[in-house]
Amino acid sequence: MNVHLLRSPELNVDTYRDVILMLRQFPGPIRYLESELGIMDAKPKEHFWENEKKFNTKEQVMQVSLNLNEKRPLEFPLTDHRLSWIDLFRQCYNYRSQRNIPTEDHVILLTDIGNDKNWFGAMDDSRKNYFVHTANWKHFFKNEVDVRFPIAYEVITWLLRSELFGEKSDMQQYLHQKSIGCFMDYCENKMEIILKMRTADICLDCLEHINQKDLQPNFVTQILETMDGIRSNLIFRERVRIMRKPSRIVVDGFMKQIHLVDFGNLCVRLNPKERALFLLYLNHPEGISIPELFEHGQEIFAIYRQISGRESEEEMRRTILNLLNPLEDDISINLSRIRRKFKDAVGEELLPFYDIRGEHGEKKYIKLDRELVTYKN
Ligand SMILES: [Zn+2]
Repeated sequence: MNVHLLRSPELNVDTYRDVILMLRQFPGPIRYLESELGIMDAKPKEHFWENEKKFNTKEQVMQVSLNLNEKRPLEFPLTDHRLSWIDLFRQCYNYRSQRNIPTEDHVILLTDIGNDKNWFGAMDDSRKNYFVHTANWKHFFKNEVDVRFPIAYEVITWLLRSELFGEKSDMQQYLHQKSIGCFMDYCENKMEIILKMRTADICLDCLEHINQKDLQPNFVTQILETMDGIRSNLIFRERVRIMRKPSRIVVDGFMKQIHLVDFGNLCVRLNPKERALFLLYLNHPEGISIPELFEHGQEIFAIYRQISGRESEEEMRRTILNLLNPLEDDISINLSRIRRKFKDAVGEELLPFYDIRGEHGEKKYIKLDRELVTYKN
């Protein structure tokens, strides 16, 4: 089952790639394919939200909104941009005809642009074309969210609905008007989306419905495992403040990717150089000062050589020598990138467990208890 995830031009590239990486962690028949929508052939109209209540309410039929800057809470009244459902679906149709996409493939437009019914996402009558709204999640989750999780949740639940329902009208009657924490909750009040995703569940009635439809078991398994990952991430993030407990880490496979086990197995997207540096420090709980890094040149080089991939031996050597040179900026640039990526993944409160820190001129180290670290081949 091919699912083309179409990045709308305004959607941040890193957010987009992270969503795909996250979805691909769960194996099964669904294949997620990357695609870019060059330009949108429709011009979003300005929309004025006089108050928050309207912003939080879906319009009957099938909500939203947005400020492209998600860093701070939204303030009302608010003006954002949106398109009609038809215009949004048309981007999928255009993409299909330009690229000759087989009819049975699914095309999902991921976009920061809102829609005229103010929904989180929707699918057309063919049940093969969709859009998912990628902005404003921090508003609904009160900032306590890694946006790739709700986006991924929307993607998989629309795919499940597509397999489950013959026609759109059919689907409508199965929607739960009152939220019970099932993927079929209608959530007219969009704030109720939190309940739906924290539970990330399928109620007994819907399970029975899935059972009767005789869906492919490995398709259902892939969807359920993705939902479980999303739930554990959301819940772990919410509870961090009271648990004050960092997530376990798995250093996975030949490429030594770093996964946060308790955050829904979220992969921290360090590039090979950043990852080699992080892994070196992980091997040395006692800490290493910047000038001492040279003494660990062989060790970090061995890690880097394994995971870097394409470069020549000579290029790899140059990269590492440059990184370890205390007179160059490269080391501080990489340390701050590692910090930023962990901050995005675990939030401010847990960051001190994972970043490489230490006073200027002193030893730097990673605080995380090494009992929480597992290496998996
Ligand atoms: Zn249900």
